Amino acid sequence: MDNRQAAVATTVVVLGTGGTIAGRAQCRDDHTGYTAGQIGVQALLHGIPVPTGHHVEHEQVAQIDSKDMGPAVWRPLLARVQHHLQRPDVAGLVVTHGTDTLEETAYLLQRVLCPAKPVVLTCAMRPATALAPDGPQNLADALLVAAHPGARGVVVVCAGRAHRADAVQKIHPYRLDAFSSGDAGPLGQVEQGRLTLWRAWPAAAEVAGFNGNPWPSPQHQHDELLPRLLAAEGWHRVETIVSHAGADGALVRALLAYAGPGVAPLRGLVVAGTGNGTLHQDVLAALRQAQAQGVVVWRTTRCAEGRVVPGDAPEQDGIPAIALPLAQARLALQLALLHGDALGAAKVAG
Ligand code: ASP
Repeated sequence: MDNRQAAVATTVVVLGTGGTIAGRAQCRDDHTGYTAGQIGVQALLHGIPVPTGHHVEHEQVAQIDSKDMGPAVWRPLLARVQHHLQRPDVAGLVVTHGTDTLEETAYLLQRVLCPAKPVVLTCAMRPATALAPDGPQNLADALLVAAHPGARGVVVVCAGRAHRADAVQKIHPYRLDAFSSGDAGPLGQVEQGRLTLWRAWPAAAEVAGFNGNPWPSPQHQHDELLPRLLAAEGWHRVETIVSHAGADGALVRALLAYAGPGVAPLRGLVVAGTGNGTLHQDVLAALRQAQAQGVVVWRTTRCAEGRVVPGDAPEQDGIPAIALPLAQARLALQLALLHGDALGAAKVAG
């Protein structure tokens, strides 16, 4: 990996993937009945101020509603981001993306590429055709962060706030300020073309690991993970479930039994537990059955904020808790399984 910042890097590359920021509606006051991923990234950049001393290049990697995001787009996106990071003239990247799965793409890019330059994901809650679209300001703010001296790592910029990839969650289906970093708080804010930092830029090794255990070194992760993720067979089947009042474990047993031509076997399961990651006893019994069949099971919390504090539920030992939101935890397990040594499996548990 060689994506260190060059002495004179003045290019910001903007990669388009679709989303509401590129969405089109029939009428200007329609904020929900639009079609995402309609307008090209070149048109989105029209009239957006370019940070002083920089110039902008653009590339359309995909044009989708991010509710449909997955390996088919992640593969080319990882490859193109990595390609541009390695260019000495590139100061940073911006990725335009839908809000629905933004936190997943951000986490994946950070964990796999560990960029020493900024990779700024941005979005919009209103389509580009709205009376007062939020996309243009978000895009201008994202360009500014991507060109900011010393910026590094994958960052989400929306509604004047910058968030780290391991903490950010979409918390509102409609509000313009739809993202939160929860207890961690945002990385910083952009006001009047100025970035104020409240926390340190993400360093690769800092991204939340597993119950305080660091992930393997960034170099190791990158060299091992990227080629495997770029290969079609690199993505394991990892599902999520939620524990709730009245749960009976039937869903877990159905997942275990589900098989057929073209159906990849279940390799991992992340359960969003109640409160501090506690699990209904019947769900726990079904999860034990899954573990006995070789499925790696992790738990997190279904609480909107905070992370599971380990050690509080001894009866659930053996279902390790991970300090990440559910969406990021699912990807973390997928990456851990890819390591082949099942970092998150029994070895690390407890
Ligand atoms: N469904 C849209 C998407 O994620 C929502 C958005 O971008 O706000 O692409």
